[in-house]
Amino acid sequence: MTDVSAPPAPPAVGSASLIELIGSHARDADQRARFPVENMAALRAGGYLGYLVPSEYGGEGGSLNGMVSLAKELAGACMSTALIWAMHCQQVDCLVRHADAALKAEVLPRIASGEIYLASVTTGSSGGSLMSVDETLTDAPDREFLTLGRTAPVVTGGEYADAFLVTMRESGEHSDQGVSLVYAPRTELTIRPFGEWNPMGMRATASRGLRLEGMVRRDRLVGRPGQFREISHDSMIPLAHLAWSACWLGAAQKAFSGLLRQIGSTVPADRSSPLVQERIARIRVDLELVNAYLRRTCDEIELLRERGHSLNRPDLHIHVNTLKLAASELTFRAVDRMVQLAGLSVGYSADSPLSLERVFRDLRSAALNYSNDRLWTATGVLSLIDRSVHLL
Ligand SMILES: Cc1cc2nc3c(=O)[nH]c(=O)nc-3n(C[C@H](O)[C@H](O)[C@H](O)COP(=O)(O)OP(=O)(O)OC[C@H]3O[C@@H](n4cnc5c(N)ncnc54)[C@H](O)[C@@H]3O)c2cc1C
Repeated sequence: MTDVSAPPAPPAVGSASLIELIGSHARDADQRARFPVENMAALRAGGYLGYLVPSEYGGEGGSLNGMVSLAKELAGACMSTALIWAMHCQQVDCLVRHADAALKAEVLPRIASGEIYLASVTTGSSGGSLMSVDETLTDAPDREFLTLGRTAPVVTGGEYADAFLVTMRESGEHSDQGVSLVYAPRTELTIRPFGEWNPMGMRATASRGLRLEGMVRRDRLVGRPGQFREISHDSMIPLAHLAWSACWLGAAQKAFSGLLRQIGSTVPADRSSPLVQERIARIRVDLELVNAYLRRTCDEIELLRERGHSLNRPDLHIHVNTLKLAASELTFRAVDRMVQLAGLSVGYSADSPLSLERVFRDLRSAALNYSNDRLWTATGVLSLIDRSVHLL
């Protein structure tokens, strides 16, 4: 028999006061499509920017499962804030695993102290494909430097970030080798925002376009020249899919909890109705499936890393992609069902205290934030390679 009496303690999560503060700014930041500066200040002050920074550099040395727990909890309060933090953690992981010793010594302690918030520049003018970047890194007149010019149409928190990890096409001797990743501090760039950020959801991520120009030191390359693909397999993609999925699930879970508490009071649904019970069960099952797949994928990545094994395997790519596809579709379906269950005034109104309307809009972005269309076809191709069908 399974012992169900004592579930394992979850990893450390945010303090109640932090979560409350973050939730208190969510509505205003969403309505005005503004960056949640108060929430970011609290995350900086509370040491959360250093969550994945190893303790030897002054960070929390947190685990991936811990990051998932925290992202879920933050997203229950404000999904935009959670995504901002989660994407910062993704960038930190890239640095921890792929920057050289000098760059780590320079940057990681400053991240841990809350001084540096990192934003991500991977999307290019011609779309979301990670490996197609139009602009090339060129040698500056002083050979110690590289000239960087990048048009980035969507940069979460870009106007508030202290530094960026930017993908650039290699030039010169490495030109056949594809894309590089560069650490670019804000102070070394000229930054010109363009366009407006007025989307349906995720409005508080303030993901406006930026034109970045400057000269960065050659030793600011993260990983080997032209080998961003290695970093993307080892760190950027797995972390993105874990962290985003955690955000989506956390927002849906909190919304569901709020809805369940209101059934029979502000939500007029009848608890004894088999139709209502079935609808509730379908929402619960979707959230259970996403949670289990999220934790299982996270465990698999942590185990492979602990053992020093590569994450660049078709079965692992399939699991990581499956997580993103399933989480984005099932959490959105769950909140869609919540709106139906709650009805017009509680479910569909922007003024409802349950905020289902905001969560619905936010979760609609999940299938777009790295397009599911790309992932479905990529996962099909990978499945043709993994003919032994190594399921998670
Ligand atoms: C909230 C949010 C925050 C973001 N933050 C950042 C950030 O900080 N930094 C950053 O660089 N980017 C960011 N992005 C961008 C994101 O990573 C994606 O690049 C972007 O959402 C993809 O947009 P797209 O669908 O227009 O582009 P694409 O992925 O280029 O797709 C273009 C079109 O082609 C279709 N398509 C693509 N592949 C296929 C296929 N195989 N089969 C059929 N159709 C296909 C798509 O459906 C779409 O209609 C963010 C996006 C969101 C929503």
